[in-house]
Amino acid sequence: MINAKTKVISLLGNPIEHSKSPQIHNSVIDSLGLNYVYVAHKVDKENVKNAVLGLKALGYVGSNVTVPYKLDVMPYLDQVSEEAKLIGAVNTITVKNDELLGDNTDCYGFAQMLRDEQVSMRGKNILILGTGGAARAVTVSCMLNEAASITVCSRSIDKSSTFIESFSGYDGYNGNWFSIDYKTLERSSPNSDIVVNSTPLGMHPKEGVSPVDPSIFNNQTVLVDLIYNPDKTEFLLQGSKRGMKTINGLGMLIHQALKSFEIWTGLTQSAEFVRSVLNL
Ligand code: NAP
Repeated sequence: MINAKTKVISLLGNPIEHSKSPQIHNSVIDSLGLNYVYVAHKVDKENVKNAVLGLKALGYVGSNVTVPYKLDVMPYLDQVSEEAKLIGAVNTITVKNDELLGDNTDCYGFAQMLRDEQVSMRGKNILILGTGGAARAVTVSCMLNEAASITVCSRSIDKSSTFIESFSGYDGYNGNWFSIDYKTLERSSPNSDIVVNSTPLGMHPKEGVSPVDPSIFNNQTVLVDLIYNPDKTEFLLQGSKRGMKTINGLGMLIHQALKSFEIWTGLTQSAEFVRSVLNL
């Protein structure tokens, strides 16, 4: 029952109607018997500053931030975590001691998803397809988990090179960096241990499209797709047919949400519980 003591958590983005976050968080809240509520706010670009500062004014516990505002909110925060700075995006805001704190839990979500599947990034050669926000979170996850090498593939070699250069200020990663485009990738015999699709290829309206043909990799390569709807993209389907291990992005979605929830409340729930709620 919502009453005068109910604590509020929100989601800021546009569009937000498709988001699974309210369903995830409200189910977790109910399961733990907490007097909290999670609501989605569709915010216009010119109102982002007011929305962020409003979290503090209204005494919200915090908020998730989704597309397209993960960068836009950053100037209005009092503190931003090292991980979020490295990724260059915030997906979680917490109001604490009258300050707005920014975090990014996508990076944690990716790492935890692989851990659940007993896939370690440590010492591995990891190929990342795409250079968007999700690719940045995956890259930071690879850096923090000590991948031996990180190769970034883009439709434009300039873009993948610029992407890599943007991490050059961080001296905590000692592995090797490579940038590549799809034409060169398909002509080479990449020795990738893990390949991550961080492009929208395979998702509506591009179902049935794969960013690369998995047959260029050896059968021990683990294929990861950040897309979870459809459950198996063309990329994963082709890999499965070759007997390769495949992982979709549902675990990342669940673990980033649970991490945000833990940051706000200090409490958590199992990934299995959230998986059953989502029924995916
Ligand atoms: P984005 O910025 O729209 O796109 C990512 C990158 O994909 C682009 O920078 C682009 O890289 C490449 N790309 C875009 N269109 C392409 C095309 N037609 N052909 C080949 N490459 C193309 O998306 P994002 O926000 O980073 O998200 C990427 C994917 O991850 C989406 O499918 C999203 O749903 C998913 N995601 C999942 C989770 C999760 O929790 N599971 C979290 C975040 C995102 P280049 O221009 O360099 O080629």
